[in-house]
Amino acid sequence: MVIKANGQPRASRYLRGSVVVNRRRCGKPTCRCAAGTALHETTVLSYSQAGRTKFLTLRPEQVPAVRAAVGRYRAAQAGLEEKANAALAELVEASRPKGRPA
Ligand SMILES: [Zn+2]
Repeated sequence: MVIKANGQPRASRYLRGSVVVNRRRCGKPTCRCAAGTALHETTVLSYSQAGRTKFLTLRPEQVPAVRAAVGRYRAAQAGLEEKANAALAELVEASRPKGRPA
């Protein structure tokens, strides 16, 4: 299922999901895509919601901002994960009984 994006002028700073380019044939025998070399491309934001994968069709002018926001989210998420893992390792280390080897 494809949900059309309607009227969202710009992407926010962070966006969850992945930008995916779908390539397909439209089925018209006379279309340029019929030979299978020049397929129709649709850029979508793929994201999961309530355990389901959904696709949001992006307008061409939305793509750069959405890609950038997804990238920022990934980077921020990776940074947060790293800090949280370091804090966990520290807590585990501090909780270990003294004098016992690791
Ligand atoms: Zn076509």
